[in-house]
Amino acid sequence: MVFLNQVKPVILSEKEIPISMNYNYFMEKALDLAKKALSAGEFPVGCIMVYQDKILVTGSRTGTTGKSINEIDHAEIIALRKLAGLKKNINSKEITLFCTLEPCLMCYSALVLCGIGEIVYAYEDVMSGCTGCDLTKSAPLFRNNRIPVIPNILRDRSLKLFKNYFANPDNTYWMGSFLADYTLIQ
Ligand SMILES: [Zn+2]
Repeated sequence: MVFLNQVKPVILSEKEIPISMNYNYFMEKALDLAKKALSAGEFPVGCIMVYQDKILVTGSRTGTTGKSINEIDHAEIIALRKLAGLKKNINSKEITLFCTLEPCLMCYSALVLCGIGEIVYAYEDVMSGCTGCDLTKSAPLFRNNRIPVIPNILRDRSLKLFKNYFANPDNTYWMGSFLADYTLIQ
């Protein structure tokens, strides 16, 4: 494990988002995966990891429908597992994660441990999103290696998928939750 350089937390407002990378283009790709998850009855989260302007790996949420419901197979964890399986010499600090939902604490921690360089997300997770958490009292690895975050890229498109998900009574995962209520009143 290579220890990371210290990175101060950086959360950019919409007006400060750099135009060097095509954020909308890559978020569209993540949204396509979220749409497929929704069609399969899964929680509509998709993500991609971009390295040197190319899509390296993808992930989408599984384990939210049927008999195999679990809290492990988040889109980001699926993508990180694929990343670990690549036999390529990759500088993880140059990888940008595009995710249609703000990462939770489990995924954020895994992204820090893997040295991912940047997080771009569409819809804020008011229930379990952790990119803005105060980690000043956490262990040094997490305290000293915050990942720069860009929120709200194509937010409304992701919101629409979550509205569709929570409006369907066949979907039971996190139904009636704070996130469901927050989503459905918008
Ligand atoms: Zn997660």
